[in-house]
This record gives sequence, structure tokens and C-alpha cells, in this order.
Amino acid sequence: MFKFFKDKLKDAVSKFSKKAEEDSEEQVVEEIEEVVEEPKEAKKPEPVKEIKKPKVEDVIEKKEVKELMPKKKSFFESITEKVITKKINEEQFDELFWELELVLMENNVASEVIEKIKQDLKMDLVDQPIKRGDILNTIKDSLKKSIEDVLDFDKIDLVQKIKGSEKPFVMVFFGINGSGKTTTIAKVANKLSKSGIKCLLVAADTFRAAAIQQLEEHGKNLGLKVIKHDYGADPAAVAFDGVKSAKARGYDVVLIDTAGRQHSNENLIEEMKKIVKVVKPNMKIFVGESITGNDCIEQVKKFNSAVKIDAIVLSKSDVDEKGGTALSISFVSGKPILYFGVGQNYDDIKEFDKEYVMKNLGF
Ligand code: GDP
Ligand code: GDP
Repeated sequence: MFKFFKDKLKDAVSKFSKKAEEDSEEQVVEEIEEVVEEPKEAKKPEPVKEIKKPKVEDVIEKKEVKELMPKKKSFFESITEKVITKKINEEQFDELFWELELVLMENNVASEVIEKIKQDLKMDLVDQPIKRGDILNTIKDSLKKSIEDVLDFDKIDLVQKIKGSEKPFVMVFFGINGSGKTTTIAKVANKLSKSGIKCLLVAADTFRAAAIQQLEEHGKNLGLKVIKHDYGADPAAVAFDGVKSAKARGYDVVLIDTAGRQHSNENLIEEMKKIVKVVKPNMKIFVGESITGNDCIEQVKKFNSAVKIDAIVLSKSDVDEKGGTALSISFVSGKPILYFGVGQNYDDIKEFDKEYVMKNLGF
């Protein structure tokens, strides 16, 4: 994840800072610095902690402190040093940001996130005197802080959540066809099973016969039971049966697969709502493909407005060299990323981890 994005971002940031250093207005300011001197004739030096060194700002600005200064001369002596600072105005900033904005767009970062990053950088850069040579670090720090903010959402500990809930814990998975929904269900069930959680799979995608077979195949591979009806059956009825069966047999979790037509399909929306009404899930999960960028973000918005999503699984992160979707989707939708799908095997699922994302982005 982020392989392509990381390099592009690094390039754009260094170009930005280089241009900013070149174009910005230069100013020479005198910075006052104090030096603490040992009193010449002191018998015993006072313990260090009792020598309170006032802040530079206080010393310069407070008149009474200024007046006190000569008396303390043997302890504090102020010296002035010439410092060259740079200042970027708003117009220059907008021009400089443009290239970075293109890189963010090109890498699927959502416009809402780009706007936030822009405002944060602007606050830290525009009309701020920055020491010559320090612009690159200022940009990097500001960008890092901004992205950390974007990724700041509560992590879900699914195993804890399940163990703390009444049995069975019902999870319904939504998403368009081919997004990796069925594979994700198998991966999650496999992960939960390894934590000693008893899982039941439910094939409520009755629209495609192949979908039922696919889930059965996963069930067979993982040694998990699958509840199914015939192709064309009412999905809500299958889901209901699944939950009933789980209750009767003491399963901890029910994972329900649903039909993944286009998110604009009215019938599907109604079908999803019906399933939710009938089984009252503890968690509704949207599965989206990381590589589809803004499409994926549009989908989660639509699914959320239809059935109120609780969390997101971003599949195919392993083949997403951009990664802007991972960066943006929670910020834009307000829903946390539960897992990243990182391959086609059952163990290829990774919990969301902010540090991991930051590290992959080069911070
Ligand atoms: P569904 O139609 O939404 O149920 O999608 P599937 O689960 O059938 O997945 C569609 C294709 O995507 C399959 O070939 C999966 O193996 C593949 N796939 C699913 N998740 C991942 C992932 O995290 N990484 C990669 N590389 N492929 C995935
Ligand atoms: P598409 O052109 O393949 O996307 O199919 P349409 O959306 O035109 O749907 C064709 C028919 O199948 C319509 O009568 C829909 O009501 C029905 N349909 C479409 N999607 C679903 C689905 O996800 N579940 C069920 N049960 N029926 C669906």
C-alpha cells in the first residue's frame, strides 16, 4: 500500500519546500538569546532548579522584567543574534500547494481530505516567519500532524466486542459485486475462529447461484457451517433462518453475505433494509475495494445512508499502490476501518493500524 503515493508525496513536498525557500520574502530579525553565567564570587552555587530562567518573550515584552534585567546582569546576559527568516504569503502558498494537491488527487485522496490538509498547512506556513532552511521540516511536520488527524478514529477490537455481547453477534456484510465481500467474510470468520469464536456463515446473496457456491466452498475449506436456501429465495428469510439456527446451536457469531448489485439499485437497497430490519445486526460492515478510490467513498456514503454502516473493510489494499482511499474513507464517511484485505489467502487480513499507515506513507 502507498508505494507509488509515498514517492510522489516525498517529491512534491521537497519541490514545495525548495520553491518556498526560493520565492519567499527574506527577513533579517534579531533574536534575543540569554546566557546564564555563573556568579563570579558566589561561595556555593545555588541548586540549578532554583535558578529560574524567564522565557525570551517575557524578557522582551514585559516592561518590568526589562527594568529588572540590569540588576541580574551577572546571572543573565542577553545577546543578540541575526536570524534570517522566510515568509510565504497566501497567494504564494496557493500556487505552491497546487502541485501537492495534484499528487493527492492523483493518488485517490478525497477532496475533503485535501482541503483539510491544505488548511492545516496554510495555518502553519502562511505569514509565519520560518527560519531559512527550516521550511521542509515545517511542511513535513504539518503534513504529518494533519494526516494523523485524518486517521484519528476509534479502533474496533472485534474479538472483545463479540466476547462482551450477547450471543449470537450478528454481522452483515454489504458491498458491490466483486468488491471482495465473500472472501472478506471467510477471512474474518477464519480470524475469529482462531480466537475460539464459533462462527456460522449465511449465504443471503440469493441473486447469484455462484455466490452461494462460493461461500459454501469457503465454509468447506475452513470447516465452517454455511446456512443457505435455494437460488432466488428471499435474502431476508435466509438471514433470519441463519440467526435462528445460530441461537439454537449456540454459535457466537453469524456472518451474513448479501447480494452486491450496484449501490444505485433501488431493489438492492430495499433488500438490504429488509435484512437489517429482520435480523437487527450488531454490526453492518461495508466492504469496498481500496483501488477504486473515490468510487469506493461514494459507495460507502450511499450504503451508509441506506442502512447505516458501522465499519469498513478495505479489500485489495495489497494491490493499491496509491492508498488515498485508505487515507480518506473514514474521514469522509465518519466510519472506522476495521480491516485491510491484503491478499487472496484466508490469513491476508490486517487490523487497521494508524502507525502502519503512517509508516507506509513515509512518516
Ligand atoms: P464479492 O463478489 O464481493 O463477494 O467478491 P469476492 O470475495 O468474490 O472477491 C472478488 C475477487 O477479489 C476474488 O478473486 C478475490 O480473491 C479477490 N480479493 C478479495 N479480497 C482481496 C484482497 O484483499 N486482495 C486481493 N489481491 N484480492 C482480493
Ligand atoms: P442488472 O442490469 O444486471 O444490474 O440488473 P437489474 O438491476 O436491471 O435487475 C434485474 C432484475 O433483478 C430486477 O427485477 C431486479 O429487481 C432484480 N435484482 C437486481 N438486483 C437484485 C438483487 O441484488 N437481489 C435480488 N433479489 N434481485 C435483484
